[in-house]
Amino acid sequence: MLADMAIQTEASRMMVWRAGWLRDQNKRNTYYASIAKALASETANKCAADAVQIFGGNGFNSEYPVEKLMRDAKIFTIYEGTSQIQRLIISRAVAEAAKEAA
Ligand SMILES: Cc1cc2nc3c(=O)[nH]c(=O)nc-3n(C[C@H](O)[C@H](O)[C@H](O)COP(=O)(O)OP(=O)(O)OC[C@H]3O[C@@H](n4cnc5c(N)ncnc54)[C@H](O)[C@@H]3O)c2cc1C
Repeated sequence: MLADMAIQTEASRMMVWRAGWLRDQNKRNTYYASIAKALASETANKCAADAVQIFGGNGFNSEYPVEKLMRDAKIFTIYEGTSQIQRLIISRAVAEAAKEAA
């Protein structure tokens, strides 16, 4: 679980940096920004939920901070464009690229 958290977190960080780098180059980054937003926010949720699991019963209790981290992580898949909306943007970009390639 810890290794998966690290894998997903590092991959998310790379995607965020890629989207940011494109923006710095004054290039369109909509596709990569949506991938970064969906991936990083869902990774935050997966990592927080797995952290609760690792703590066992204590993870569920409010005496430990991890249960709050799990609740706090949820907002990232909702505001600033939900995960579903990010996927709409990504799938439209994929369809557009396929049309241009044809
Ligand atoms: C704490 C918090 C802070 C916020 N801050 C801001 C802010 O500063 N500025 C701001 O503008 N907004 C803010 N929001 C609003 C937030 O961006 C919206 O909640 C978000 O855009 C979702 O819109 P909605 O709540 O109307 O849900 P809806 O649009 O009604 O969506 C409900 C569900 O349906 C899904 N859905 C909707 N359309 C589709 C579709 N076509 N295909 C598949 N699924 C779909 C959504 O993904 C979601 O899961 C904030 C929200 C919260 C909770």
